Amino acid sequence: MKYDVVVIGAGPAGSMTARDLARGGASVLLVEKRPEIGMPVRCGEATGIPGLALVDVVPWKRAVASETKGSYLYSPDGTRVELLADHVNGYVLERRIFDKQLAVEAAKAGAVVRVRTYATGIVKEEGRIVGVKLKHFNDEFEVRCSVVVGADGIEGKVGRWAGIDTRTSLPQMASNLQYEMAGIEMDNPDVMEFYFGNNVCPGGYVWVFPKGDGCANVGLGTRDRNQTPKEYLDRFISEHENLSRGSVVGVNAGGVPVAGPIDVSVKDNIVLVGDSARQIDPLTGGGIYNAMHCGRLAAETILKSIETGDFSASALMEYETRWKAEIGQGLLRSLRVKEALEKMTDDDLNHVARLMTNMSLGGLDVKELTTAMLELPPDMLEFIQSLM
Ligand code: FAD
Repeated sequence: MKYDVVVIGAGPAGSMTARDLARGGASVLLVEKRPEIGMPVRCGEATGIPGLALVDVVPWKRAVASETKGSYLYSPDGTRVELLADHVNGYVLERRIFDKQLAVEAAKAGAVVRVRTYATGIVKEEGRIVGVKLKHFNDEFEVRCSVVVGADGIEGKVGRWAGIDTRTSLPQMASNLQYEMAGIEMDNPDVMEFYFGNNVCPGGYVWVFPKGDGCANVGLGTRDRNQTPKEYLDRFISEHENLSRGSVVGVNAGGVPVAGPIDVSVKDNIVLVGDSARQIDPLTGGGIYNAMHCGRLAAETILKSIETGDFSASALMEYETRWKAEIGQGLLRSLRVKEALEKMTDDDLNHVARLMTNMSLGGLDVKELTTAMLELPPDMLEFIQSLM
């Protein structure tokens, strides 16, 4: 068996890469180790609509649980910052359906999709990557290709097999835990809620993402090791009557690296995309859009390589240069804001919330703005301004 490209992992990164490669005329094999694409879900499922349009994805109706019009940010003393849009600008997805949709789009474009197919290694000849080793049920076999795309997520091994350093140390991993809850009430079911505070979720936040019909994803991510994420989440829910009246109908957990992107995402005949290249935002934990965006960029570069027959690292480097230019700076800024957030006391958080409320009401005078600029780390101020 021989393909131009074998893509390992059918998450948003892999399916998007496979879809765009197939649309460009490449022969593509997309393999997924799980028996069902999109399951189990390990995600808050929130994403922005403008981003989806940029990667030419219109989610199926049943892949959208709810539409959102902005966010409420709550500081420890309960100050609420309202960041509202006058139109729908986000979705809370059903990832188990959305991820399947992306794989279906890849298949419709001509990619061969194989589930329950585990990549167990890469094949090298004279030091050069020439294919992958796969296992489907009990069948073990090799597939040859010109490029291997590692879209195998946070725990991915493809990069390491190829000699790319993808390690994240334990202290650089945030532990995320999320409950899918039913029978709850929200102040405004069109709005995502974020709760900050050192007793709520040190260095991170609790999110409540509405899924319609009295359901929501309620979760958090933290690097704090004094208490478990479960202790923080259970306490938060018990302190919010609108949530504590509800039931947990699903639990998912996973690590999110907060160390920023990896240094190198390409080598001869290999490209890493999505979480496997740590393209996930270290501040928000958002990775769906970045994975798709970078999948698209990877496909564009690989298609050029197919045309020229040059699959060397220097040819594939165009992908890395582009993704670092387009999202790399944002990831590094998020990293710095995350580090600043981790150092903030509850008083600092309350202060920032009040400043943001004043800014959003247009009531911040020059003196207050100057004070804010002196008091807040520049990255934090820039980040806040980008939200307003
Ligand atoms: P994945 O979606 O992880 O896909 C990788 C795929 O590769 C998997 O299907 C896996 O089974 C497969 N695979 C792995 N190894 C192999 C192998 N050897 N052979 C074959 N297949 C393999 N992002 C957002 O944008 N919004 C959110 O609200 C949000 N909330 C989150 C909440 C939590 C609790 C967590 C943990 C993450 C959250 N994220 C969120 C991040 C988001 O889920 C990821 O960034 C996104 O899924 C990355 O897509 P990906 O395709 O790179 O990886």
